[in-house]
Amino acid sequence: MEPLDTPSVVVCRGLTKTYGAGDTATKALRGVDLDVRPGELLMLVGPSGCGKTTLISVIAGILDQDRGSCALFGQDLARLSHRERVRFRGRHIGFVFQSFNLVPCLTILENVAVPLLINGVKRAEALRRAKRHLDQVGLLDRVSATPTQLSGGQQQRVAIARALVHDPGLVVCDEPTSALDHGAGAKIMDMLKSLAVKNNRALVIVTHDPRIFPYADRIAHMDDGVIQETSLQTVSDTPSCA
Ligand code: ADP
Repeated sequence: MEPLDTPSVVVCRGLTKTYGAGDTATKALRGVDLDVRPGELLMLVGPSGCGKTTLISVIAGILDQDRGSCALFGQDLARLSHRERVRFRGRHIGFVFQSFNLVPCLTILENVAVPLLINGVKRAEALRRAKRHLDQVGLLDRVSATPTQLSGGQQQRVAIARALVHDPGLVVCDEPTSALDHGAGAKIMDMLKSLAVKNNRALVIVTHDPRIFPYADRIAHMDDGVIQETSLQTVSDTPSCA
């Protein structure tokens, strides 16, 4: 982790979000404060419905909060136009959706290349870099497959390669090991952890999987729309990335 005077990648203050209105209103966020530092792997845990997905959607610029602020790399997302926010997100954030969100009619190589193409990288170069990332997640032999030809675990690995291919400073993952058995989950976490440390990226991971808790630098415990406490992992809790 970085020394304490390094600027945070994510700074959330007083975030609130309510879905619906009147009798059917659901307060998903009730005033969330959160900081995530470069090189830090933060896990967000808590019971279903406590607001985890809402929080990471606001952090990733996919959803607007009602009140409060969310700054990424010092940029307040609310100050950007919709178009600027889409561009900012495309450049700085990698997102691993729980449902993968792969494009079914594209090969997995093309799927992984999408963030690069959106950022204006030439097709040949985008495909070359996508191939390298698919190699890193052990899918080099499946580059021509389409998503439906892969298992859930393989699709999850494609989604992770796609989230990392454009070298974002912040990676946000919703349940990245939910479709993986223990061995494959540990492999993915080793990879995510080493990428965070080596490249000084910040990672925010929503998870229900206690087997991966030891990979966190910090765990934020969420309940009923607020972060109740954050606990620091000690060095002896952290598994080897060998
Ligand atoms: P978690 O990820 O912790 O399961 P969510 O952020 O998905 O929690 O949901 C928080 C609360 O907001 C829940 O009560 C959920 O039912 C509600 N909620 C989430 N998304 C919507 C939506 N699009 N419309 C209405 N209510 C929603």
